[in-house]
Order: sequence, then structure tokens, then C-alpha cells
Amino acid sequence: MIDLRSDTVTTPCNNMRRVMANAEVGDDVYEEDLTVKHLESKLAEMVGHEKGLFVPSGTQSNLVALLSHCQRGDEYIVAQHGHTYRYEAGGAAVLGGIQPQPITAEPDGTIDLNTVALEIKADDFHFARTRLLALENTTNGKAVSLDYIARAASLTQKHNLGLHLDGARIFNGAIALRVPAAQIADHFDSVSICLSKGLGAPVGSVLCSNRDLIDRARRWRKMLGGGMRQAGMLAAAGIYALDHNIDRLQQDHDHAKLLADELMRRNPDIDLQIIGGKAHTNMVFISLPNHDIDALRAHAKAHHLLLGTRVALNTLRLVTHRQISEPEILSVVQLITNFLQAPASA
Ligand SMILES: *Cc1c(COP(=O)(O)O)cnc(C)c1O
Repeated sequence: MIDLRSDTVTTPCNNMRRVMANAEVGDDVYEEDLTVKHLESKLAEMVGHEKGLFVPSGTQSNLVALLSHCQRGDEYIVAQHGHTYRYEAGGAAVLGGIQPQPITAEPDGTIDLNTVALEIKADDFHFARTRLLALENTTNGKAVSLDYIARAASLTQKHNLGLHLDGARIFNGAIALRVPAAQIADHFDSVSICLSKGLGAPVGSVLCSNRDLIDRARRWRKMLGGGMRQAGMLAAAGIYALDHNIDRLQQDHDHAKLLADELMRRNPDIDLQIIGGKAHTNMVFISLPNHDIDALRAHAKAHHLLLGTRVALNTLRLVTHRQISEPEILSVVQLITNFLQAPASA
């Protein structure tokens, strides 16, 4: 199977499995797992934050961050398509009594900062207390510029709000912007980073922030059931991923670009569109207004290709990752082109 559904489908390579099997472990709830501690401090240092906290998933990482920034009756501002708002089952509201204030994003994936400013509530008992702005980088594969982040940070400072980054794919963003990840993370009070996407670890995320916030987050993690015992075996995979799998993300970006460019080049007379005009980091969104997307997905599946989720009407997301090679990209282009140019699908 060629699986373009997500970079979460990557599986640990043999070398990663070896370091997992040999990891030094202890009880991490007692803070005695040295491999977990090593991962936490290594990643915190890479992004220029004081401390890290290893958690089972990106969803839990974002949730403990929101719970640590905000209290019941507080509010956070977030993009309408933001993962913490849309794809995390409403956890902040359900478990924390934290109200999201979603804002529709601009075409570049950012939320307009004037709109953000207008949504910051006055200190008035009619309103929830606005406490936090949560951004994403990358967001739908788009790298958000340092300039935008700096303007967002000065806005939140002016209004005394916290600033959280859902940096699930922060290293894809750093590579696209050609800056160290620390330069992105620098502006934020907390940053959540996934090890189990393009970095290829089987499980885990790390929340990075200052000592106080991480202490609060540790309590929430325990409450949510995320206190793991001999988790060093999982953390070892994360350390391996940070040491070996960051620079190679560029290949995934190159493959996404090749996929987008070749699909366009091979289908000049078809209504196929690449949303945003090109690939963004390791993602390509294709829109086919006059084709049956479900028929395309079924055709692809019958030919051992899994296409991404339907993100909007007639729009599919395709994600490249370390288990997709250049010849496979070209065979995907061929397969989709054959389908689009077959008389039956016209
Ligand atoms: C994947 C992802 C997460 C976390 O997802 P989990 O599946 O819970 O690890 C958070 N934010 C973004 C933007 C993501 O892509």
C-alpha cells in the first residue's frame, strides 16, 4: 500500500526499534525514567524553552497546555480550522470549562490579528475572560511566517494574554522557513510538538514551556491518565527521531512539490486544482469540482493507494512522509491521471 492519508502512518524503522528495546527505563510517574527526562530536556533545549513534558499524544499535549493556561470560565482564541478547536473532541470545553473563540482563517492559514484584537473581551462580567491565543505552525501544511508570529506575540503581550503554539509539525515549519525551530518557538509561552508524525516515532508528543506551566501540566497529565510508567521505551524512539529524522523532512517537502507539479502538468485539460496553487511543506490539497471524489478514492484503493481524507467538498488532502519514495510519487500521479482521463469519469 502507498498510504498518503497522513504522516501519522509512519512506522518505526529497525534502528529505532533497537534503541527502544535497549532503553534505560524507570517509573516516570516517580520522575525516575532517565530516558524520558533526556527526551524532555533535549527537546525543550532545541526549542529554547525551560522544560518539557512527555505525553502520549498531541491532543493530550494541547489539552494539558490549555488547562494550564486557562481556568473554568476563561476563553482562548483559535482558528476555526485549528486542531485544538476542531479535531480534539472539544476537550478544553468539556474537561476544562474553557470557551473557545474560533476565527475564520485567511487563505494563508493565519487568523487576522485585527479580528483577534476585536475578539479580546473587555473585563466585564458578561464575558468570558480572554486568556490565551492558540496558533498552529504549520497549519494545513502552511508555514506561518516569523513576522506574523512576532506581531501576534506583541498583541498578546499588550493584552496580557498567553500564547500557545500547536507545533505538531514545527520542524516542517522550521525547514520551510529555513530557521531553527527555536526561532519559531521563541515567541510562545508553550509549544506542543508531535514525535509521531513525520518524525516517525510510534507514539508521543512533548509540551515545552517554563517550569511553572510544566508543573501545572504534570498534574493535569496525571488527571487525564497520561502519567506513564516505564515510558523510556517510547521516549527512546522520540530521541532517535530528533537525532535522525528532522533534516530528512525536506525530502517529504520535495516529494509533495513533485506530486503537485506533476499532477498539474499531466492534467492541463482537467478541472484539477491544487488548493493554494502549490504544495505546502508535506501536504497537497487537491480539488476536483467535477469529479466523484469517492469514486477516485475507491479506484485508488483498488490499486493499493490510500488517498487522504476529504477535507471539504471535492477536496482531498495528500500527505507525504518517510515511507513514500519518489517512484511511488510518480506512480500516484500516473494512477490519478489515468482515472481523471478515463472517459467514464469525464
Ligand atoms: C496531529 C496533530 C495534533 C495531535 O494529534 P494526536 O493524533 O493526538 O497526536 C495536534 N495538532 C495538529 C495540528 C496535528 O496535526
